[in-house]
Amino acid sequence: MNKRDYYEVLGVSKTASQEEIKKAYRTLSKKFHPDINKDDNASEKFQEVKEAYEVLSDEQKRAQYDQFGHQDPNQGFGGFGGGAEGFGFEDIFSTFFGGGTRRRDPNAPRKGDDLQYSMNIEFMDAVFGKETTIEIPRDETCGTCSGSGAKPGTKKKTCPHCEGSGQLNVTQDTPFGRMVNRRACHHCAGSGQIIEEKCTTCHGEGKVRKVKKIKVSVPAGVDDGQQLRVSGQGAPGVNGGPAGDLYVVFRVRPHKDFERDGDDIYLELAITFAQAALGDEVEVPTVSGKVKLKIPAGTQSGAKFRLKGKGIKNVHGYGTGDQHIIIRVKTPTKLNEKQKQLLREFAEISGDIPEEQSSSLFDKIKRTIKGD
Ligand SMILES: [Zn+2]
Ligand SMILES: [Zn+2]
Repeated sequence: MNKRDYYEVLGVSKTASQEEIKKAYRTLSKKFHPDINKDDNASEKFQEVKEAYEVLSDEQKRAQYDQFGHQDPNQGFGGFGGGAEGFGFEDIFSTFFGGGTRRRDPNAPRKGDDLQYSMNIEFMDAVFGKETTIEIPRDETCGTCSGSGAKPGTKKKTCPHCEGSGQLNVTQDTPFGRMVNRRACHHCAGSGQIIEEKCTTCHGEGKVRKVKKIKVSVPAGVDDGQQLRVSGQGAPGVNGGPAGDLYVVFRVRPHKDFERDGDDIYLELAITFAQAALGDEVEVPTVSGKVKLKIPAGTQSGAKFRLKGKGIKNVHGYGTGDQHIIIRVKTPTKLNEKQKQLLREFAEISGDIPEEQSSSLFDKIKRTIKGD
């Protein structure tokens, strides 16, 4: 997660041309090449540059990176990936990845926290994509004091308790002698500075809670658990640092008929006993509309048919899935006298067909139709 942005690694803008990317790569790979540069971290830097170039020089990989960041959307979210229980509902929203490392200078600019938003979407919106707006409550830099926390026109002053160092020496007498500990100054929360007159808008916090509307394009073909990075829409940076990113995790609602597995769709189709025995042509729903399907005579319950290319368009543009149809033969339950009579006659003239013989015959038919 702490991986550096590829554009940052190469020192190019997000709109850089392939020429610029190639040029930056040549310069940097020369600079950090382990054969030339004997610095300890040169080979690490070299690898970083190489990796960034491999992605950004490939238009497809670059597009994917622009959309999803370092995270592979197929991976879902470690820890959050499996199911919505106890976690994702529309407006639940949590802060994470927040400052793990200790920072030496509390006043140095640092990037805001990344935020995660769990978004419920309809099955068809996941298949075809959708433009939508989400509302997220988040902290924003206070406009009154520009984030300083001090009332406009006033200044912060050096903390008199720690004299601006942000740390205090705490002396303690112990059986082993006198111990001196350095601790963060609690008068200035370790910043070394004190706000004399607090900003009245944010009460000295430097930030205010606001509900922000953010446009999100749900990518066509996105699957449950996949996520989208919206760069720069996370929590505001601290001390003038850049804002964090927003990660939108999609939760796709199930469909009443279609079941999804990757880019393929499964559909159970109920047909009558007569249709199964005599064959028929039926209309079946697909995500892209109705199509005709030929049911061969002698189709068994459980038979599978495949509609090639009638599944879901891959989210990364790698082709389109198929739709699989699984046949379920309905056994009639409410028969009138005439129907019963006909079935009895049918049974009589059919005699006893040995089970194995009948099924092997139908298997043969199926194999012929399916061509395998
Ligand atoms: Zn303020
Ligand atoms: Zn202090």
